[in-house]
Amino acid sequence: MKTAACLTLSLILTACARDKSASAPKAAVTSNLIPTSLDSSALSADPGPAPSINSARAMQYVREVVAFGPRPIGSANHKKLEDYILSHLKGDTVEDDAFTADTPEGKFPVRNIMAKFPGTREGVIVVAGHYDTNYPLRNTGYVGANDGGSSTAILLSLANHLRGKKRDGYSVWLLWTDGEEAVKQWTATDSLYGTRHLAEKWRNDGTLKKIKAFLVVDMIGDADLNVDRDANSTPWLEDLVYQAATRLGYQSHFFGRTIGGVDDHAPFMHLGVPCADLIDFDYGYDNVFWHTPQDTLDKLSPKSLEIVGSVILETVRMLDKK
Ligand SMILES: [Zn+2]
Repeated sequence: MKTAACLTLSLILTACARDKSASAPKAAVTSNLIPTSLDSSALSADPGPAPSINSARAMQYVREVVAFGPRPIGSANHKKLEDYILSHLKGDTVEDDAFTADTPEGKFPVRNIMAKFPGTREGVIVVAGHYDTNYPLRNTGYVGANDGGSSTAILLSLANHLRGKKRDGYSVWLLWTDGEEAVKQWTATDSLYGTRHLAEKWRNDGTLKKIKAFLVVDMIGDADLNVDRDANSTPWLEDLVYQAATRLGYQSHFFGRTIGGVDDHAPFMHLGVPCADLIDFDYGYDNVFWHTPQDTLDKLSPKSLEIVGSVILETVRMLDKK
């Protein structure tokens, strides 16, 4: 996803540009800022087996999600996808955060979906990714295989990994966010509908204090996987993600450049929650496939889903021991 839109670049660019030319990620690149705080002793302390997701199943999830067609908020396909996600969480502890969003294109139902996997340790790690697809592109055949599809799928795979296991660590909440995309043009109020609502809700009911880390996955299925370091995320958590990637031998896919992103983590960052946005905002040369009908299944790879899924799980494991 998305991000989009803006995603990019708020840090280095002045504004969140929504059109591709203005938001060209290269403008945001600040070169290679690999964290220097790697602690090799910490890396060798727990060489346990690398956690992993079923990459073939993850890819199949993307295929099935894409098969619904465009899935913008308010659409029948969106509703089908809600039911699809819920059908794969039977038996899990599921909650939703449903409300009506007032947007520049009118009122729309928005529904964040969450599956909770309890742990033994006080506190929660959230892994979030959006499942809606770009509304302005709803009549173009745009299916958002990477932007919307990959995040939906990897969370379903993570649920499979977590289900039925005793968690010796923090609780993990998987969060399918909704209304991440702008309905007209990306602004602070036309974007991130779901996470802005949820962050406020959690601030009011005290949940926010329990959140130890908020990880976002977005556009992580690209066969040419280059996850960006995000300057608008929490540095120590980004460092931890990089350590996790290094432990698994996947560091060459991470943090080759740094961008400043506005994504689903932003509302939580603003409220002081440690966040890391895992996004590959270089989808095709110069990000050409992003927010175009060319965001299709053939650009994705199950290996990329596996890499990101494993790094997420390893990051969670490291957080559990932190
Ligand atoms: Zn998007």
